[in-house]
Amino acid sequence: MPNLQRTLMNSYQQPDASGHFGPYGGSFVSETLTHAIQELREAYARYQNDPEFLAEFHYELKHFVGRPSPIYHAARTSREMGGAQIYLKREDLNHTGAHKINNVIGQAMLAKRMGKPRVIAETGAGQHGVATATICARYGLECVVYMGAEDVKRQSPNVYRMKLLGATVVPVESGSKTLKDALNDAMRDWVANVDNTFYIIGTVAGPHPYPMMVRDFQSVIGKECIEQMPAMLTKQKVLGQQPDAVIACVGGGSNAMGIFHPYIPFAKTRLIGVEAAGEGLESGKHSASLQKGSAGVLHGNRTFILQDDNGQITETHSISAGLDYPGVGPEHAWLQEIGRAEYVGITDKEALDAFHYLCRTEGIIPALESSHAVAYAMKLAKTMRPDQSILVNLSGRGDKDIGTVADLSGADFYCRPSCQGQSVKGGEQPIKVVK
Ligand SMILES: *Cc1c(COP(=O)(O)O)cnc(C)c1O
Repeated sequence: MPNLQRTLMNSYQQPDASGHFGPYGGSFVSETLTHAIQELREAYARYQNDPEFLAEFHYELKHFVGRPSPIYHAARTSREMGGAQIYLKREDLNHTGAHKINNVIGQAMLAKRMGKPRVIAETGAGQHGVATATICARYGLECVVYMGAEDVKRQSPNVYRMKLLGATVVPVESGSKTLKDALNDAMRDWVANVDNTFYIIGTVAGPHPYPMMVRDFQSVIGKECIEQMPAMLTKQKVLGQQPDAVIACVGGGSNAMGIFHPYIPFAKTRLIGVEAAGEGLESGKHSASLQKGSAGVLHGNRTFILQDDNGQITETHSISAGLDYPGVGPEHAWLQEIGRAEYVGITDKEALDAFHYLCRTEGIIPALESSHAVAYAMKLAKTMRPDQSILVNLSGRGDKDIGTVADLSGADFYCRPSCQGQSVKGGEQPIKVVK
């Protein structure tokens, strides 16, 4: 390992006071938002180490979310791969079904303390919208969620969930009518309503302090793993106290930062982020900002983005709406640059295969986003020894994705009135018998 990297890791202190992770991050916002951003920085600086704030945060995580989430040894999968032991950090078991709720609670607690009665959020697949609507119901805050009109159509169950929870969902008709357009409109709303409105961003992107703040709230994932792993590894007679590799999918990068960050000083643990390679990294139809993008400014920070020669954001693609974003959190751009984390791609097809595999082999229906991480873990495990280990962040559950999967596999996923009395077609993969 180069000396530079070792020095950087031992003294890893990011971001600097103005939110820079190396050359990335920072704060690129219009004049009208400078005051709101400054106010938020001050509030976060005041509460981030406040014992009363932290006690409430951990109380909510325990009693409302159901933390700590367990780590599960995927024994059958590990055996069938014939290599490293695969462990899953079960963020899918959280209330609302994904890691998003961890961050949303922290930001809603800040909104309350800052005296902001109105919350806005952007959402792609709808998971961040549902988490935000949930916590607003819990705290009695008004909630407005911006969502691309295309995503509103693709994710109708989540739209209805948000409405049940009392949120207003605003379909965004501009641009490609997806997540990046929803983000733009949420920013615009914030500019117009800064006095009474708190903007809850759903990932480690946006202007400083969001990337740092969201990472800090999500770091509960990695901190729990560091406590949980030694006992798990001893039980399976695996070498070492911590995993040889930690793998997470990367959309904006919040579940990955949440599990990576506490592991940065553990030099023996490889950190691997999995981007959506869509129809292939060379196809032009993917969302692999770190592997195929270049430096630029998007949504208030400097990071790696997918852009054309004129700096226009290019169309992205992924089977999973949660990974379908043309940017990535600035800290990932920095971790890639210093070589502390590696980033790889998994295609739609590989993710879908891993989705079906985990359903049938472990009895867990993973989110399509998380299936990308599972797919890479299965590949990597085969190249490792059975006394080595891989920890996968299972960022969410797949209930929200069963419609997409059913469409792709041509299955009838629920019994319409016309098919009543007939049996429903099962998955396409034969059931395997365990001995
Ligand atoms: C939103 C989401 C993601 C992607 O967001 P990150 O900020 O990259 O974590 C991944 N998995 C699930 C289940 C999600 O809901």
